[in-house]
Amino acid sequence: MVKVSGKKSEDEKKLIQKAKEARAKAYAPYSKFKVGAAVLTQKGKIYTGANVECASYGLTACAERVALYNAVVSGEREFKKIAVVTDTKDPSTPCGLCRQVLSEFGEELEVICANLQGKIRKFKLKELLPYGFEKE
Ligand SMILES: [Zn+2]
Repeated sequence: MVKVSGKKSEDEKKLIQKAKEARAKAYAPYSKFKVGAAVLTQKGKIYTGANVECASYGLTACAERVALYNAVVSGEREFKKIAVVTDTKDPSTPCGLCRQVLSEFGEELEVICANLQGKIRKFKLKELLPYGFEKE
């Protein structure tokens, strides 16, 4: 099920670039693990986020949720893709908590995970969270 691909569309290149820029603003004094994310809406707008850590570690907010919440509080509800950028050998996927939160707005969301070297892995959210919690 895991798709590994080095090919990126123009859309994806831009989204990854925005996530990379957001990553530079991460607040990660404890883990030093900086993450950037950028979400693309159905209307073509991009919202970004980075991880924000806290001395009480459990309160840390991941980049993916920060980007999504940024978009949601700006009135957005429909999303096409999210890019996540980490400085890892292989691109990191969103944590389980973020997968669940992202699923709130649709399982068809495309998740593009990239590292700083430009390696990418693409998934549909439903591949990353096949049996997520649903209210019904
Ligand atoms: Zn997360």
